[in-house]
Amino acid sequence: MDFPKLFVNLKKIRENAEKLLETLSKLNIELVAVTKLTLGDPIIAKTLKDAGVIKLGESRLKNIKRMIENNVPGPFQLLRIPMPSELEDAVLLTDEILISEEKVAYMIDEIAKKYDKNIELIYMIDVGDLREGIWYEKAAYTIEKVAKKLKMAKIVGIGTNVGCFGGVLPTKENLNILVEIKDYLDGKLNTNLKISGGSTVTLSLIENNELPSKINQFRIGEGILLGTDATGNRDIPYLSQDTIILEAEVVEVDYKPSVPVGEVGRDSMGRIPHFEDLGWRNRIILAIGEQDIDSSGLKPFDEKLKVLHASSDHTIIDYTDSNKKYSIGDTLKFHLSYGAALRAFTSPFVKKEYIKNA
Ligand SMILES: *Cc1c(COP(=O)(O)O)cnc(C)c1O
Repeated sequence: MDFPKLFVNLKKIRENAEKLLETLSKLNIELVAVTKLTLGDPIIAKTLKDAGVIKLGESRLKNIKRMIENNVPGPFQLLRIPMPSELEDAVLLTDEILISEEKVAYMIDEIAKKYDKNIELIYMIDVGDLREGIWYEKAAYTIEKVAKKLKMAKIVGIGTNVGCFGGVLPTKENLNILVEIKDYLDGKLNTNLKISGGSTVTLSLIENNELPSKINQFRIGEGILLGTDATGNRDIPYLSQDTIILEAEVVEVDYKPSVPVGEVGRDSMGRIPHFEDLGWRNRIILAIGEQDIDSSGLKPFDEKLKVLHASSDHTIIDYTDSNKKYSIGDTLKFHLSYGAALRAFTSPFVKKEYIKNA
């Protein structure tokens, strides 16, 4: 039971991390390497540490626990603003927490006092993407107030997230909002706050020489692990995309019409399917489905293949335009989008195999 299988090329992941460390350290930017795509996979996390990464970022405490239990050393940054019910674990297991709620800051402070644990906070500011963060217009005043009230926990920086919910792109302008807030707070609090201003999508600002110089922390997952930038819709040219490859097995090869026969309702996922009539076509069925991947994020190595659709366990591919002949038992290889890779890592049906030296 070898397929479907995910090949994880540790050497290429390590090289991507090294390359980004080199680029960012020249600009005095701290790299937080983000492991959530891999569910905190300890082998991958150790590879990142070997590359020279200091801090690992994770959205889920369970993944951080998994890394700690497998002897991956911290420090750890908790990326997802914490659930009130997990705050005690968050304080005990991590070193830096992204927050956006005043109340949460005070709750963390109480827990930190109780355990005499140093804990650093990065206060997230929403500059327009509409995911987490205090709205930028009231950020300065609120963060000043919170910072003055904390006894044990410490606000060490401000941060922002773009490109996630609203798909808002990072710009010199929206990042300069953070710089202004930092300057205000540093004046009032006598601090030198970090600005955690970037993720994979923000790398393009460095390339274009547009990153405000006070941005000094990047939290990067996708760029290291896939070499792509989903929000910017590109392969990052100086990183490798051959880091994570999926292989799945062919279970049917047939010749069928391109339009279904019979009255059409919704598909198994409740979607309304659309078909273009291309006559009869050569098709493959792969033994992998929506439970394991996002079929729209499959990028076949054989570029003449067209991924049509998937239900929970079957993926249909049109190979009419390909020069190759396919048979059952053959396997096909794919690069993956962020969404498809996320599901493949999460699916217990996808075997993970690590490549060390190739
Ligand atoms: C996932 C995540 C990141 C990393 O984003 P990539 O696009 O994978 O680089 C950064 N910050 C936060 C808050 C995240 O949740």
